[in-house]
Amino acid sequence: MQIIDGKAVATALRGKIAEEVKTIAGEVGLAVILVGDDPASKVYVRNKIKACEETGIKSYLCNLPADSTFDEVAATIKRLNEDDSVTGMILQLPLPKHLNENELIDLIDPKKDVDGCTFVQKGRLWTGRDSLIACTPYGVIKLLEHYNIPLEGKNAVVVGRSNLVGKPLAQLLMDRNCTVTICHSRTRDLGEITSAADIVCVAIGKAKFLKADMVKEGATVIDVGMCRDEYGKLCGDVDFENVAPKCSYITPVPGGVGPMTVTMLIFNTLEAYKQQHKK
Ligand code: NAP
Repeated sequence: MQIIDGKAVATALRGKIAEEVKTIAGEVGLAVILVGDDPASKVYVRNKIKACEETGIKSYLCNLPADSTFDEVAATIKRLNEDDSVTGMILQLPLPKHLNENELIDLIDPKKDVDGCTFVQKGRLWTGRDSLIACTPYGVIKLLEHYNIPLEGKNAVVVGRSNLVGKPLAQLLMDRNCTVTICHSRTRDLGEITSAADIVCVAIGKAKFLKADMVKEGATVIDVGMCRDEYGKLCGDVDFENVAPKCSYITPVPGGVGPMTVTMLIFNTLEAYKQQHKK
């Protein structure tokens, strides 16, 4: 059994990004829009800004009050769309309940959509064209590729069907010739489906949901979940202690998928810069 070291892979990739940013004459900039002061969102935003600082990417934090109207958030997005010093932009989710997430996301100029969440970028991914890919599923694929885990012809199961993680991850695995099954909260006999898979990716937000009897010997298990266990300790969607001994490869939480998500955001910001400045 090998533990997939997401932190090491992310650190190495950040080093490469920093080297490349140094060679760029212009400025690469990421704008982060945070509406309100949700404590978890603030931590995520801080990590994103720190990653920018480490790699020489300029960051712009736009912190709007929690009671901002749709028009106020929309005006900020439009201003950043027109600002040439902003290469990439993300709207930190979740937004306060009174704001329509999808409608605001779709105001982001797709060229600057470094979280791959506009319908334009999602449509490009779905139809096999070059796209800016959602950071978490992209990070999962980078990990699988880094460890040379064979994908072609393998049975992969993705548990979770969110627009942010499950759906794009299923597409990315299918693009790499996996045979993909997507499971969700209404799936029957979920354990039987996961037990037949060579690769199981879980992204549901339910602490230690995937148990040892739901996984076959030698499987690769990717845990996207970020949950708290009964003692308030950070854990994933996988019962790591009992599942790990059965696996060929497994990601831990923390130190697996998480560090890759932020890294792929800066990777995409650099990618967006290169696309915007293509001669
Ligand atoms: P989400 O939008 O809440 O979606 C959860 C998905 O899980 C839904 O499709 C839901 O099914 C499914 N689900 C819930 N309970 C289930 C169950 N008992 N059995 C099977 N499927 C079930 O969540 P998300 O944004 O995709 O995030 C999922 C997890 O990943 C969360 O813990 C989040 O914190 C974590 N996350 C981590 C990172 C990272 O960088 N590590 C990044 C993003 C998210 P239905 O569609 O039927 O409701």
